[in-house]
Amino acid sequence: MENISCNIPVDINFKIPSLVDLQGKPGTTIVDVNGVKIGDSEVVIIAGPCAVESEEQLFETARSVNSYGASILRGGAFKPRSSPYSFQGLGEEGLKLLSEIRKETGLPVVTEVMDTKQVELVAEYADLVQVGSRNMQNFPLLKEVGMCGKPVMLKRGMMATIEEFLNAAEYILHHGNDQVILCERGIRTFATSTRNTLDLSAVPMLKHVSHLPVIVDPSHATGLRWMIPSMSKAAIAAGADGIMVEVHYKPETALCDGHQSLTPDDFNDMIVDLRKVAGAVGKTIL
Ligand code: PEP
Ligand code: MN
Repeated sequence: MENISCNIPVDINFKIPSLVDLQGKPGTTIVDVNGVKIGDSEVVIIAGPCAVESEEQLFETARSVNSYGASILRGGAFKPRSSPYSFQGLGEEGLKLLSEIRKETGLPVVTEVMDTKQVELVAEYADLVQVGSRNMQNFPLLKEVGMCGKPVMLKRGMMATIEEFLNAAEYILHHGNDQVILCERGIRTFATSTRNTLDLSAVPMLKHVSHLPVIVDPSHATGLRWMIPSMSKAAIAAGADGIMVEVHYKPETALCDGHQSLTPDDFNDMIVDLRKVAGAVGKTIL
């Protein structure tokens, strides 16, 4: 029987689920994150620490990234850590800190949800709810964030094909939420010199087949602080609607991912270059 929910254009070799399909919708989707629009003509910068560690760490970092040009603040309150002995995040206390600094800076916040039981809590505090790489195919979680009433940032699973990534997004739309941002964050390959391999071809591919906005996270993709400016520039040149980078006010003291966190000064320098690249491809940085 013919599968009417999928459409296979001649120039790709996988099936596009119907709700995320560019052909199924007039125009592209602009996701509104508490007033910040992603998927429009301006490139959006999301920055902040990997994890919310303390009031001082979050607030100092947030003030810096705000003054240097970020439009959205990131910070994990619930952290998916490979080891059970690593810092797991501050939980609800972290969410409260994020909402306090949002009040001061005006920056909308993005933070991760890992558990279906915490979707309501996280959605109450977050402006943008993140589903992390490790949970890209956690189908109960995808259904729950589909019903949460807040925009969702879905990170590509580290082993996921583009088709699997789009099907994960399809779950969220199918459950009633069309405010979805796709985030390419690197995939596992044979290459070991970087933490993951940044699949920049995912950017034009996703934008070729889907109406959803696409952003790039060069921090988790490379795991190398010095490489982040280069890959951020490349992401914007490739057509990304935004980038998400980790910034820490004192990376050497970070409880999570300090090695890949930019200092506020590094971040400031990078933004100067990103404005030039955005201009070269006919865009501006928000
Ligand atoms: C993160 O962005 O905080 C994170 C844990 O990233 P990922 O899910 O891509 O590993
Ligand atoms: Mn991190």
